[in-house]
Order: sequence, then C-alpha cells, then structure tokens
Amino acid sequence: QALLYIVATPIGNLADMVPRAVEVLQCADLVAAEDTRHSQRLFSHFNIDTPLMAYHDHSDDKRTEQILQRLEQGQTVALISDAGTPLISDPGYRLVREARTRGIQVVPIPGACAFVAALCAAGLPSDRFSFEGFLPAKPGAREKALQELAADTRTMVFYEAPHRVADTLAAMAEIFGAEREAVIAREISKAFETFHLAPLAELAEWVRADSNQQRGEIVLLVRGAERRQGAELDSEAERVMKLLLAELP
Ligand code: SAM
Repeated sequence: QALLYIVATPIGNLADMVPRAVEVLQCADLVAAEDTRHSQRLFSHFNIDTPLMAYHDHSDDKRTEQILQRLEQGQTVALISDAGTPLISDPGYRLVREARTRGIQVVPIPGACAFVAALCAAGLPSDRFSFEGFLPAKPGAREKALQELAADTRTMVFYEAPHRVADTLAAMAEIFGAEREAVIAREISKAFETFHLAPLAELAEWVRADSNQQRGEIVLLVRGAERRQGAELDSEAERVMKLLLAELP
C-alpha cells in the first residue's frame, strides 16, 4: 500500500535522529529532500542509500506529480527537509494535501523541531502560543505584521535570519514595548547553544552589542501582551449600567 512518510531529522545534533526515522529512510523506495547534497551527509552518517530526489519550495507541479505517481504505483516515499520537521517553515504542504486528496496514507515520524525545542526551554508561558514562522523581510511589511500581533496575549514564536535579528528586536521593542519580555534561542542542540531572556529593549541592545549573537540559527520568542483588565471592566460596567437603567422608572 502507498505510504508517504513525513520524517523529522535533527536540527543540529545528529544524535537527535530517532531510530524510527533511520528505519523508514532506509526502507523507503524514494526520499524526497529539500537539498539532496545536504541530505547526503545525513545519509552517509546513518548508512542510508535510498535514492534521493529534490523537492523544494520552487518545485513545480510536475515534480509533485512525479512523486504522487510513484506513490500511486505502490511505492513508499519519505519526505525530509534540510533540518527539523518538514512543512514547518519548510516545503511539503502541497504534496501532503494532494496525497491525502488521492487517498494516499500520510504518516508522520515525529522528531526535532526548532520552535518546540525553543519554547520548552525559554521560560515563557507555553500553555498558549502562536508560531509565526519568518516575518516578512521588508521593513515596512515586517512592522505591519508586528503591529497586527501587538495585542496578542499568547507567547509568540518567530524564526529569524541572523543578519536581521538585531533590527527585528529593535522593531519589536518599538512596537510591543521596551519592557515586554523576550528570549533569543540560538544554535539549539549545537556547540554554541544560547538562551537569553530579557526585556525587549535590553535584549535588542545585548544582541546589537555582540556580533556572536547575530550568527547561526535563531528562534525569537516574545511574551504575549498583558490581558487588558480595562477592557473587561468597561464591559462589566456597561452590563451593570444596562441592568440599572432597566430598573429605572
Ligand atoms: N523545519 C524546521 C523546524 O522543524 O524547525 C525549520 C526550518 S526553517 C527553514 C529554518 C529556521 O529554523 C532557521 O532559520 C532558524 O530560525 C530555525 N532553526 C533551525 N534549526 C535551529 C537551531 N538548531 N537553533 C535555533 N533555530 C533553529
């Protein structure tokens, strides 16, 4: 029976590869990978010699169709990305959607994911959060996106490129407020793993002052806005006022 596996791979430390992922990649007929040269290193480390095919964001419908045809012939295909969980700020949605539409079974092999690793060690509330992925690259669009999030009470999680992190933190301090707590989580599971929690203005300054903090792979987490007590009181006052007014002769 046709099976499409969505396989998570490590985000830095190869020892984080789960045994089931190795097994599935070894046994699949084909592995669709974002960057086949990059994945070759993972394959050599785990003695995997399954054929690789490139499947990335710019892959056209023809490539998706080729993979689907293999599946429809009864082959087992595994999808991986360069690091972490496919479809999390990575390609694969179109393939998964189309496979499901055609009744092909899609099976996840869970494993590393940068934002989950960052969130569980950051020290910010994790009961409710919103994963925002990458902000738009252009400053105007980025500021607009941040403004739309300013009143969100959930912890927010972003992926950010190292050369933009200082500017992004400055923009966040401006829009969310200097005192809002945030965390930079850098190089998770690698030699220079760093977590640093501070109010936004302070964190922006700390990152700006040390070029080492503007290197490697980065997750930014920002505490949600305080619940607006005022707004709740207003509506409560309004409710009581209505009740009282109804009682007036
Ligand atoms: N699919 C991946 C996942 O499951 O997390 C994310 C892929 S996305 C293209 C790459 C971004 O993830 C990086 O720019 C960085 O923001 C974040 N990331 C990946 N590995 C990381 C690590 N070891 N430490 C911190 N952030 C990481």
